[in-house]
Amino acid sequence: MINEGLLTAAYIIASILFILSLSGLSHPETARRGNIYGMIGMFIAIFAIIFGEVSQYEVLIVAMVIGAIIGITVAARVEMTGMPQLVAMLHSFVGLAAVLVGFASYLDPSSHFEGTEKIIHEVEIYLGVLIGAVTFTGSVIAFGKLQGIVGSRPLLLPLRHFFNLGLALACIWFGVEFINAESVSAGMIPLGIMTVLALIFGIHMVMAIGGADMPVVVSMLNSYSGWAAAAIGFMLGNDLLIITGALVGSSGAILSYIMCRAMNRNFLSVIAGGFGTTAGSVSVGDDDEGKEVVSTTAEETAQLFQDAKSVIIVPGYGMAVAQAQHPISEVTKKLRAKGITVRFGIHPVAGRLPGHMNVLLAEARVPYDIVLEMDEINDDFPDTDVVLVIGANDTVNPAAQDDPNSPIAGMPVLEVWKAKTVIVMKRSMASGYAGVGNPLFFKENTRMLFGDAKASVDAILTNIAG
Ligand code: NDP
Repeated sequence: MINEGLLTAAYIIASILFILSLSGLSHPETARRGNIYGMIGMFIAIFAIIFGEVSQYEVLIVAMVIGAIIGITVAARVEMTGMPQLVAMLHSFVGLAAVLVGFASYLDPSSHFEGTEKIIHEVEIYLGVLIGAVTFTGSVIAFGKLQGIVGSRPLLLPLRHFFNLGLALACIWFGVEFINAESVSAGMIPLGIMTVLALIFGIHMVMAIGGADMPVVVSMLNSYSGWAAAAIGFMLGNDLLIITGALVGSSGAILSYIMCRAMNRNFLSVIAGGFGTTAGSVSVGDDDEGKEVVSTTAEETAQLFQDAKSVIIVPGYGMAVAQAQHPISEVTKKLRAKGITVRFGIHPVAGRLPGHMNVLLAEARVPYDIVLEMDEINDDFPDTDVVLVIGANDTVNPAAQDDPNSPIAGMPVLEVWKAKTVIVMKRSMASGYAGVGNPLFFKENTRMLFGDAKASVDAILTNIAG
């Protein structure tokens, strides 16, 4: 066992490393360093806890070995496109842990709190279990929606706001019952009922949220998982867990705010749900019914590129599915070598994770200085010769601006249609994640390049001379 002073020092060092990690992760250039800080911090934290707080090692070692095997196997196998689901699943584990620790802490026969301390401890347990249960089922449903097991259409129950309000009031009422309970066995009843209600609330909350709002849900559950971890820290009296949980909770909350702003949505209306309809369906806006799209080929696209002075590439979820980032990086190199200006335009909610496209482009070694955010590049489309949309759909949908009745009306989008020519790469006429028809495909200056994005980019690459 290490002594108290060393343990505190280890906790402080780990906390500082976690803060450095977060600041490193804020930019692609420093993200790798940020990850390393986080790994060292976690290493120190785990060893400090093992050698400073634990006295029985048998169960711990078995649990750690099982956990490590599962973790390594899952991490080694997961595809980049499966990352959002994995993250949602990991959030659910934190929620479940908070629930289990809450119950264990309440039932622990060795804890003897009296008076105010007892009330504070019980409030910590109650809130910890509440946040944990909502995070658990909310994340499981988010996993289902991202995996496509659960449809992304919002479930809009009649009187759903009253239902939520009823659940919230019931949780407050059972909380009072819990604090006033005479014995542990009497307290288990309100605690157990609240847990069931919180589990139902988590399911209902995420079921009511439509596909288009999922980015906010992912970051919101990230934040909840942080608060659940902080609650576990309070229950166990572990300062490091409180700090770590608060860091994750607040950074997730800031991310939710950024996502809301990127989508021009306010947080409360996201939670109220109902934005975005069916996903993956072949859906066309009313005005576009019966209209024809114009197809093009990889040869024509390669020629257009070579005749252009400026090109903007707009990637979306389809680029991640096709893993087309490597050949598009090669195309970029070839075109830049010919003196053509090539830049990337990234929508904040493109893909299925915050920063999804930036990670893929960094992996393919696309220089950071030509990867621009939506706000930085949106005014440049009118002066652009060719825009290549690779598997993006909702994030380039003009209906968000032109059709006040569209489910994504008001969401800022990349104004690709303002360029001279737009090439849209996708496999079919299916809609994007929000399930909304896209009038971009029918614009006069749009050409559709159907097929898997990687195969199409490979074909373009071979058709570019040099
Ligand atoms: P979309 O999900 O709107 O569209 C992706 C497009 O890619 C589809 O139209 C699909 O068309 C095409 N595609 C899929 N596979 C391939 C392939 N192998 N080759 C070529 N094309 C392919 O993508 P966006 O990135 O534009 O938008 C992201 C959406 O996801 C938004 O609605 C956002 O709200 C939501 N979301 C974002 C999250 C985030 O944090 N970023 C989290 C959760 C949801 P086809 O099938 O015809 O090929």
